Amino acid sequence: MTGKLVCVTGASGFVASWIVKLLLNRGYVVRATVRDLGNPDKTKHLSELEGANERLHLVKADLLDMGSFEAAIDSCEGVFHTASPFYFDVKDPQAELLEPAVTGVINVLEACAKTPSVKRVVITSSIAAVAYNVRTRGPDVVVDETWFSDPEYLREQQNWYQLSKTLAEETAWKMAKDKGIDIVTINPGMVIGPLLQPTLNTSCAAILQLMNGSSTYPNSSFGWVSVVDVAEAHILAFEVPSANGRYLLVDKTVHYSEIVMILGKLYPGSSLPTKCVDDKPFVPTYKVSKEKVEKLGLEFTSIEEVIKQTIESLKEKKMLKLESNL
Ligand code: NAP
Repeated sequence: MTGKLVCVTGASGFVASWIVKLLLNRGYVVRATVRDLGNPDKTKHLSELEGANERLHLVKADLLDMGSFEAAIDSCEGVFHTASPFYFDVKDPQAELLEPAVTGVINVLEACAKTPSVKRVVITSSIAAVAYNVRTRGPDVVVDETWFSDPEYLREQQNWYQLSKTLAEETAWKMAKDKGIDIVTINPGMVIGPLLQPTLNTSCAAILQLMNGSSTYPNSSFGWVSVVDVAEAHILAFEVPSANGRYLLVDKTVHYSEIVMILGKLYPGSSLPTKCVDDKPFVPTYKVSKEKVEKLGLEFTSIEEVIKQTIESLKEKKMLKLESNL
């Protein structure tokens, strides 16, 4: 039992709920920030976690309210900054994505800089802040921690979520240097796996849409990774003293056609899309280096296993209704 006090921001979300769960399992005392303490959809699944009665404290905080993380971070040894909006259907990218992502990092790191007990801040960044630039990606190209997404390129492409994560990570590294804060970033691809929260999140929705009668699949290739592995990597990045810099987290990069194939093998007879949404060549896959994160001690769950866990969880939560014979 460590008994160490740590803070997790955006604790209601898909990824952060798993970070909270694994921290409680390891004996940490956790201050978990939530935007709306009065909404059971955001708090009940956290309060029901093993160890929550004794060691979980929910604290209200909003990325846009300067100073609102100070109480949650006070006296903490570690901070896991995971809160950031993640969705693609935006009307006002500045207000909905860019502002909360960047202001949120500033807000959280300002609070950390004022709190001498904080030894390390682990920030949930994304492959979105890594792989999106003019460099060509292809099956033989290995994307590693030296890659950075290009904000100008992302603006031109109107890839607003990717831009929000790129600007947030840039801001984090600059503040860490200016204020002498020890930060580590975790940069996962598309995260899937069992849901703890009662509502559907963006990355699990990407799998659900393939099983919900859609006739086509997207012409995209993404790196995929297990939510449990992502949570574990955050904790290793805090616990391993030599952890530093960025850690990419992708088990495998595949085109949606391959996800459909895996689903077909796992759930024969289910109604899956049969064709790609367009007639263009398939967007190429690429490799993502695992070397650095494996040195931290992380072992990856296979994409096939994680897809199965995701579907089983979506069924259990009644978000996916399969035919009774499947
Ligand atoms: P999620 O379930 O939608 O969680 C997002 C969290 O951010 C929620 O707790 C949300 O709070 C919080 N949040 C959003 N705006 C906020 C604000 N203004 N103030 C305070 N909290 C706010 O998404 P997720 O997939 O777990 O994503 C969590 C983190 O992982 C994000 O930083 C995301 O960029 C990163 N990430 C996710 C993936 C993935 O595939 N899932 C991949 C790479 C990186 P509410 O619940 O109150 O809305």
